[in-house]
Amino acid sequence: MTATVINGKAYAVSLRQQVGAAVAQLRADWDVTPGLAVVLVGEDPASQVYVRSKEAQAREAGLRSTTLRLPASTSQKELLGVVADLNSDPAVDGILVQLPLPPGIDSGSVLAAIDPAKDVDGFHAINAGLLATGQKGLVPCTPLGCLMLLRHCLGPRAMTGLSAVVLGRSNIVGRPMAQLLMQADCTVTIAHKGSRDVPALCRQADILVVAVGRPELVRGDWVKPGSVVIDVGINRMATADGGSRLVGDVAYEEARQVASALTPVPGGVGPMTIACLLLNTVIAACRRRSLAIPSYIADC
Ligand code: NAD
Repeated sequence: MTATVINGKAYAVSLRQQVGAAVAQLRADWDVTPGLAVVLVGEDPASQVYVRSKEAQAREAGLRSTTLRLPASTSQKELLGVVADLNSDPAVDGILVQLPLPPGIDSGSVLAAIDPAKDVDGFHAINAGLLATGQKGLVPCTPLGCLMLLRHCLGPRAMTGLSAVVLGRSNIVGRPMAQLLMQADCTVTIAHKGSRDVPALCRQADILVVAVGRPELVRGDWVKPGSVVIDVGINRMATADGGSRLVGDVAYEEARQVASALTPVPGGVGPMTIACLLLNTVIAACRRRSLAIPSYIADC
């Protein structure tokens, strides 16, 4: 029997609809329209595509969306000035500085300058610390999206006691993912490029989340039969006809023969990331004004 394919694209559509309903409720009840500001520095083509999608999906959900496009020659001081202006703008609830930043700008200093209450990417050390200590903050969008897919697939209570392995320890995916799985009562192992016998570690996993940026690193025989596999990787591979295609960090066809459910690439985790960004913007807008989170998204 082959695995169930977890349709992240469809789940993200329904999440964006819930966010849209929550925005409409905030506007009707409190005359509040949550505002998202995205800062894009330079001309990185992948970032431009990504930022355009964010803009379009934010508008569709009824958010106030602004994108500040700055030249690659922008200095760190100028960028910090832009962030300071957004921090003090009451109409802005969420600030996202698109990464990567051009060489010469220290992204750590820029991310640290964002008001943690508006840090809808959840990368600020304050939000990372809140997550690590089990407190309410803003959670990084990609791992939040992965958790939602897992809950949808397994049911929230069914995660208790499961063995979860997270492959990758980046601040934007692996580490926060491990924290979220621990809060969901899983027993969590984090494996990384310094780990020994990574395939054996993966084979213990009832839940395997892979975020390494290595095309098809995880083979079918690394996957525990009946497990759930979440593939965060997005790798562009050249094809024989001179084109390219996207592949994940998991050898999809192999894993599909072994797992009980898995996410495809594309169409799995990717669409959830922007949907969670919109969700975080609405949550930030409510918290900043001490408003109750609208029921449409309260349980997300
Ligand atoms: P990163 O490069 O910051 O981190 C990679 C991690 O993988 C590191 O912790 C490293 O220790 C580990 N690693 C590398 N090779 C390994 C190996 N052979 N065995 C075990 N561990 C190994 O990457 P990232 O930013 O976390 O992104 C990972 C992947 O997820 C990339 O393909 C990226 O494009 C993708 N991504 C997707 C989304 C999305 O929205 N779907 C969001 C963020 C990242």
